[in-house]
Amino acid sequence: MYHALQLAQIAGERGEVPVGAVIIDSSGNLIAEAENRKERDRDPTAHAEILALKAAASKLQTWRLNQCTLYVTLEPCPMCAGAIVQARVGLLVYGVDDPKTGAIRTVVNIPDSAASNHSLRVIGGILETACRQQLQTWFANRRHRTK
Ligand SMILES: [Zn+2]
Repeated sequence: MYHALQLAQIAGERGEVPVGAVIIDSSGNLIAEAENRKERDRDPTAHAEILALKAAASKLQTWRLNQCTLYVTLEPCPMCAGAIVQARVGLLVYGVDDPKTGAIRTVVNIPDSAASNHSLRVIGGILETACRQQLQTWFANRRHRTK
């Protein structure tokens, strides 16, 4: 999660909402890392989780990531939660709940919904304070700049 926070910091410094994600295999090896690139790529799907899932699937040569753990600094949105379920990710670990678009438990619960064919294990609230402060600082700075 510390590494995900560092990736998020890079995104934040480049004008993106700071979100970072890493994927670890069953042996604990880092197999994918990504940060939010939505603005830079002008791609509405370029969230950190989607980019990390794609990189991990490419590296492992399978879309089934059931042996993998995905760490992300912010609770995934509906798009990413859907992709995480589609990839059969073994364990999701995230930092802070997202009261606006959180789709793991806060606004909706995609993994436990009738549309999900995968029972996802989830641990939320890891390094929660650091993840929250990073986002709050970024949004505060942006508000300050646009005044
Ligand atoms: Zn997302």
